[in-house]
Amino acid sequence: MPAIGPNLGAMARSIWKRYRWDRIGLVTGTFSLMVIGLVAWVSPDVPPSEGSSAAVLSHPDAPPSVEPAGALPTSRRVEPQPQPQPEAEPAPKPPANIKPCSCNKSALKIPRNPYTAHRVAARNLPNSFFVKDKSGLDWGRKAGKLVPVEDGRGYHIAPLSHSHKALLPEARNVLHAIGNAFADELKGTPSEGALIRISSMTRTAAQQKALGQRNYNAIGEESTHSYGASFDIAFTDRPSNDVTCSDATRAIQKVLLDFQRRGEILVVPEGTCMHVTVRP
Ligand SMILES: [Zn+2]
Repeated sequence: MPAIGPNLGAMARSIWKRYRWDRIGLVTGTFSLMVIGLVAWVSPDVPPSEGSSAAVLSHPDAPPSVEPAGALPTSRRVEPQPQPQPEAEPAPKPPANIKPCSCNKSALKIPRNPYTAHRVAARNLPNSFFVKDKSGLDWGRKAGKLVPVEDGRGYHIAPLSHSHKALLPEARNVLHAIGNAFADELKGTPSEGALIRISSMTRTAAQQKALGQRNYNAIGEESTHSYGASFDIAFTDRPSNDVTCSDATRAIQKVLLDFQRRGEILVVPEGTCMHVTVRP
C-alpha cells in the first residue's frame, strides 16, 4: 500500500500537468484566433486617420474634403453641420461706369423699426460688446466676437472710411443670407449678378464721433454699429447700364421685407442707405 500511494500521486500530478497545458494551449489558441479575427474584421473599414482618437475629437465642421471619400459607411460618419453659405462665389467689383441704384428711404418701401429696438437687439446678441476704440476692436477680433467680412455672393463692400470690415458672427451670417437671397431673387433675370453695396459695418465709438453723431433719439448716444450688429446698404449695383434698376430695387426690397417679417433683422430706412441691425 505505501508503494501505490506515491505512484498514484505521480500519475495524478502528470495528468494534472497535461490537462493544465492543454487548457492553457486551448485558451491561448482561442484568444489568439479571436484577436486575429477581430483585427481582420475591423482593419479594412478604418483608415488610420479615422481610427485614432483624433477622429472622435475632431470638429464636425471640418471641411469634408479632408476625409477620404467613402472611407466609412454613411451610418458611422459624423455628418458635417450645415454651414453658413461660404464665400465660394467671390463677387466681382462692379465696373465704375455703371450707375448704382438707390437703396434708401425714397427708393424702398420698408417699415421703420424704432432705433431703441435696434439698440436692444444689438446689445442682446450673444457676442455683443461695445467697441470703444481700436484696441477694443482688436480684442474682439482675437476673441472671435468680431469676424472678418469680405465680398461674397450677392454683395460687395465699398471702401470703408469710418468703419471696419468686421461684424458679430450672427450679423455676418445674416449678411451672407441676405446676399444669397438677393442673388437667388435675380437668378435668370437680365439683372442676374447685381450686387448689394455695403457702405458701413463696425464702427468704434471714436469713428462714430468723427462721423458727426446722428442722433436717432435723445436718450442714448451709442450707435448699433459700435456693437458690430449693424451694416448699411447704400446701393445695389446692376451688372450693366443696359438693365434698369427696377429688378434689383424690387429684389432688395423683397429680401429686406422677408427678413424683417421673419424677425431676423430690424431696419431704419435712411436718406442715404438702409440701416440694418441683426436680431438675437
Ligand atoms: Zn447704419
